[in-house]
Amino acid sequence: MKQIKKNFKVLFVSSEVYPFAKSGGLADVSFGLPKAMSKLFDISIIMPLYSFIDKKQFAIEHVESSFKIVLGAKSYSVKIWSAMYEGMKCYFVESPLLSNKKNLYGTPQSGYKDNDIRFGLFCKAVVAFAKECKDYDLLHLNDWQSALCATFIQEDEAIETKTLFTIHNLAYQGIFEKESLEKLGLDANYFHMDALEFYGKINFMKAGIAHANMLTTVSPNYANEILTDAFGCGLDGFLNKHKNRLTGILNGVDSSHFSPKTDKALVQKYSVKTYDKKVKNKKAYLKERGIKDDTLPLFIFIGRFTSQKGVDLLIEALKELGDLNLHIAIIGDGEAIYHKQIKALAAKNKNIDIEFGYDELLSHKMYAAADFLLMPSLFEPCGLNQLISMSYGVIPIVSRVGGLRDSVYDIEKYDKELACGYGFSFDKNKPNTLLESIKKALALYEDKERFKEINLHNMGCNFSWSASAKEYATLYKSLLEPRA
Ligand code: ADP
Repeated sequence: MKQIKKNFKVLFVSSEVYPFAKSGGLADVSFGLPKAMSKLFDISIIMPLYSFIDKKQFAIEHVESSFKIVLGAKSYSVKIWSAMYEGMKCYFVESPLLSNKKNLYGTPQSGYKDNDIRFGLFCKAVVAFAKECKDYDLLHLNDWQSALCATFIQEDEAIETKTLFTIHNLAYQGIFEKESLEKLGLDANYFHMDALEFYGKINFMKAGIAHANMLTTVSPNYANEILTDAFGCGLDGFLNKHKNRLTGILNGVDSSHFSPKTDKALVQKYSVKTYDKKVKNKKAYLKERGIKDDTLPLFIFIGRFTSQKGVDLLIEALKELGDLNLHIAIIGDGEAIYHKQIKALAAKNKNIDIEFGYDELLSHKMYAAADFLLMPSLFEPCGLNQLISMSYGVIPIVSRVGGLRDSVYDIEKYDKELACGYGFSFDKNKPNTLLESIKKALALYEDKERFKEINLHNMGCNFSWSASAKEYATLYKSLLEPRA
């Protein structure tokens, strides 16, 4: 990578970045990936300044720029703040309409009605800021919330910055009424099937796909899946037209955030060399949750309660697990119907422990305490939980889809010579396969030596960003070098 000029300037644009604001994996990626890329490029991050972000806590004190943005008939004042966080320059876009909401995008039931203007404003402000700074070579855009940057750049002849658009989850596309186009001040010509039009509405995700110079998604297998009717969420035809610009690159894990060696949330840090100490975290966690028997295996589920995460499969399996010798700990938030069903099962079965909500600290303790992770997703662009769990010595039980297929190798074909992580994987379309995998996991737990060997093997694998960052660097380079 010697030939890459570190002075290429990249702005990484995301609607959520850990630790400032997080609703899921996008936030983890939006700090971990630019941090890994900063070894090769001059890269900074830009995100909205939501009012719930504590400016003092993160020393967000400096105003870089303030200006007005015109969207359609309205004008909005914008301030760009900045701060340094773990060596990364981070910019924050503040504007009342974008910033002054309780949540990032809405509630699990529905998105905020003005999300079109909120994120249209965010994108236009990002492009105005990049234009003011003059020297950005590349904008790396992420998901529908930042997709319109590609359109605003395409329609402005005064800015030559290249764009790369990463699809983190095709199921969320940013679909709004046709009238949004005018409110966003975009030309009526964009209401076209080759641009933003989508069944009579407008679709922000299409803007990124149509107008960015290059496209990526977060695993090689998902890159193939989204070209099919089963996983394309109505955009498979459109993506097929643009597939020559699409690459799948597997996500990594930022070890400064997720590593059992350094994780401050743990009562006992541990590594491959001190694996036997891991059990102290299990004992402490079970005690904290009021669970007595710490000899039984602990299975965890951490995630959003949506059909994507296979919550229906989880609930079906939970109905059968009450009599088995195991503990299950669940943390999540999402659709009310799932809350109700899981709550009822937990009330009936003493071995199911449930925490509703989002709790970063508790999730770290769960990874450190657990023996197995349940991830029965119906589709999974990449998934981070399985990567985090393998690096914490927790064996994943996953459905064979998307990035799970790329990152969890079949434990029945375990080969200690291969530097890949192993777990149980099953076919989500066949009945009872999750339950069968859980039973196989129970058998493995009894074989203490093999259980330990596989965990030590997984912990020794590299799930960091290093390999993927090189692949992104090659793409950045292919976009930027003709300009050098
Ligand atoms: P998603 O589709 O939700 O983005 P990923 O697997 O890509 O799923 O990333 C999920 C990230 O969010 C992981 O860091 C996981 O530990 C975390 N997470 C998910 N739900 C919760 C929760 N309820 N509390 C704490 N952390 C959570």
